Amino acid sequence: MTKITPQPGIMEIALYQGGAAHVVGVTDVVKLSSNENPFGPSPKATDALRKAGLDLHRYPGTDHAGLRKAIGEVYGLDPENIICGVGSDEVLQFIAQSFAGPGDEVIYTEHGFSMYPILAHACGAKPVKVDETDRVVDVDKILAACTDKTRIVFIANPANPTGTMIPMEDCKRLAEGLPPQAILVLDGAYAEFVEGYDGGAGMVESRDNVIMTRTFSKIFGLGGLRVGWGYAPKELIDVLNRVRQPFNLNNLQLQVAEAALRDREYTVKCRLENARMRSWLIEALAGHGVQADESFTNFILARFADEKEANAADAYLKSQGLIVRKVAGYGLPNCLRITVGDEPSCRRVAHAIGQFKEGAA
Ligand code: PMP
Repeated sequence: MTKITPQPGIMEIALYQGGAAHVVGVTDVVKLSSNENPFGPSPKATDALRKAGLDLHRYPGTDHAGLRKAIGEVYGLDPENIICGVGSDEVLQFIAQSFAGPGDEVIYTEHGFSMYPILAHACGAKPVKVDETDRVVDVDKILAACTDKTRIVFIANPANPTGTMIPMEDCKRLAEGLPPQAILVLDGAYAEFVEGYDGGAGMVESRDNVIMTRTFSKIFGLGGLRVGWGYAPKELIDVLNRVRQPFNLNNLQLQVAEAALRDREYTVKCRLENARMRSWLIEALAGHGVQADESFTNFILARFADEKEANAADAYLKSQGLIVRKVAGYGLPNCLRITVGDEPSCRRVAHAIGQFKEGAA
């Protein structure tokens, strides 16, 4: 008889709820549930994919030198302070694995990204959920929750799924107020949607307890490629590299991500179009009596009267081939998160919500 049991904490992990891509019986489906770029990646990235395909018999480099150099050039950062991973999820995993374990606490916030408690449990640490204030991260509440066991504080800025953002002064106050053994992780998955925002890179440079993470999945339109990166003081990067598999990124990932990154014109175009359609969508929904707060990201959080109405709206949208995201699991049962799509998709979702509100459901 074997006695195989998982490590403590593993069975407390709630499986990640991904967005569906299909609706049974509906063919013309628009997926607005995973905050993807509706225009896809730069055509230069697609070209790079074809070329990278010729290199499949070669192992990739282990140090990601080319991609780190490109990130350094585009963002004005030192490549020595950069680590790349299989999506920013993997970089977040390196952080949890390297700095938290049994007996430690990992702080995340009320409506925070669902991977944070998963990662805490996976390394045997205790996830500690801290309340927000009106769907915004509250620095004072986080500082009050810190103990001598706190090892990591995860916040996304801008945040998912609320789309809200806290000012850099608040991030600084948080980093300054943390106990000495704790790291602040500034998850900047949506940072590129905010013009002129450095995602916290400046804070990484001026302090020794901050790590910034970024992704190619959102504005760069490469969710399917799985590439992300982290920026941290060299001492911390050295630690993270020790748990990273040497060949964690393959040739295709490295070359395609670099090509996408270097097409800066395309990135700007995507940011501007996202901002335009985001404002349009918020206004259109308001016209149908559905409120959505200001968003700093490529999605909006549409608020319904209660959970019942949100579920009914979700079901009606599905019947019309529109997939959006329920966020009850994030403590937002009366809301639906809707990715800002291209103009036809935004018009279609706004029209369907209008029909729903008029009682078509
Ligand atoms: N952080 C936040 C806040 C996110 O919303 C996401 C994607 N949903 C990620 C990190 C992970 O993104 P990826 O692993 O695709 O880089």
